[in-house]
Amino acid sequence: MPDPIQLRTIPSVDRLLRSELLEPLGLLYPHSTLVMWARGAIEEYRDKIQRAEQLPKEDPVKDLVSRIIAKERIYAGAKIRAVINATGVILHTNLGRAPLAKRAVQRIVDAAGTANVEMNLNTGKRNHRGQHCVDLLCQLTKCEDAVLVNNCAAATMMVLQSVASHREVIISRSQLVEIGGGFRLPDVFRSAGVSLREVGTTNRTYVHDYETAISEKTAAVMRVHHSNYKMSGFVTEPTIAELVQMDKSNAIAIIDDLGSGWLGNAKQAKEYASTLPFLISEPSVHASISAGADLTLFSGDKLLGGPQCGIILGKRNWVQKLKKSPLMRAMRLDKLVLAALEATLEIHLEGRAETELPIHRMLTQTPAAIKNRCEHVSSLLNPSVCCRVVECESQIGGGSMPGEKIESFGINLEHRHPNLLAAKLRENNPSVHARVTNQSVLLDMRTVPETMTEVLADCVRRCYLDEPITADDHDVHSDV
Ligand SMILES: *Cc1c(COP(=O)(O)O)cnc(C)c1O
Repeated sequence: MPDPIQLRTIPSVDRLLRSELLEPLGLLYPHSTLVMWARGAIEEYRDKIQRAEQLPKEDPVKDLVSRIIAKERIYAGAKIRAVINATGVILHTNLGRAPLAKRAVQRIVDAAGTANVEMNLNTGKRNHRGQHCVDLLCQLTKCEDAVLVNNCAAATMMVLQSVASHREVIISRSQLVEIGGGFRLPDVFRSAGVSLREVGTTNRTYVHDYETAISEKTAAVMRVHHSNYKMSGFVTEPTIAELVQMDKSNAIAIIDDLGSGWLGNAKQAKEYASTLPFLISEPSVHASISAGADLTLFSGDKLLGGPQCGIILGKRNWVQKLKKSPLMRAMRLDKLVLAALEATLEIHLEGRAETELPIHRMLTQTPAAIKNRCEHVSSLLNPSVCCRVVECESQIGGGSMPGEKIESFGINLEHRHPNLLAAKLRENNPSVHARVTNQSVLLDMRTVPETMTEVLADCVRRCYLDEPITADDHDVHSDV
């Protein structure tokens, strides 16, 4: 039963906001924001009394103020700012996947003002938006043409709807994946108005399974990279080349959804093979195009190391079909993304990925070089912070190459409350993201940019020494 006496003790928004406990917030936020939190807090408090689950013994103002402070923490923590990724997860989706190259960042700044997004400056004529990126992609991958959309999920949607609407697409049962965030392929097919024709079994699918399923209803055959899960043991799947060869008539679109966008051209395949042997078996853009896939899809912000976008490469006739789709306008890229993508593609073309793209630097750093950096950090921290340099394993992340580990080194921080230390590091500015393992906090240096090494050491020292750390009700996670 609601307690009318207690309901009457709830202060008004005005009175609550006059509390001196809220003065610091009053300096940081507009009045309307504080009113919004105060109303929310009062509503929660009133609900609590009405449910009578627990009669508040505390002074209502104190309870309400702590609710407002909690709301402010959630609000401020959601604001996007730069963070240091010491998790060892190279493509951390929660941390924005690929950090951009300096050159790409500069081009975003240049494009942010007035810029020739749809004009060739030397002819003064109108250009197709993204034309320069398309030209760069054709040079880089030897594809005939390309289109750009918001992300690879949009690319999948766009391709299915433009190529196969009201018709059938054949796909192996082993490839009906959920990519994440509830993006499940069967649902995508449904919403694109495409019927799904599943073939094979979970573990084995052969070329003849596809061949016997082809009929006059078939618009496309699609291969989807497993990306975030791994199949091993008694498994078979045709290669993209075998699927291309199967379609003698060229009437069916052979679609290859690669996801990670590992270019895998001769130079990269050779240079990266020694440190990252698993990349040899990663389906590459190069392999897909040279096998003759009609449409090849991948993300811009995974192994390509660029901004979030979806890249669709392919044969001219199929790409033209996409360009005519009414969805194109809804999915086209923003000028900031185009500017960053241009710079990223130039870097690949110039063969400078390893030196200029942060993702590629992270991938190719040798364990010995990482160990050196760890020792430097450790010398900055000891003896005031109790830490050790330890071997550890980084991973690709971003739903790419699950289970593949990369040998690395990290700093192990000993602490009585590792979860609290990790939370403190996270709440610091700059925010540091660590891994909590075996009752200690681990900072994997592979994913920490070299320029941030000393900043990181400084953050750790401040968080570590800023005692006392008390077990309060912080919502702590290991954040990996
Ligand atoms: C990651 C991935 C996607 C989704 O890409 P986004 O750019 O995140 O939309 C689609 N397909 C595959 C195979 C992927 O790995």
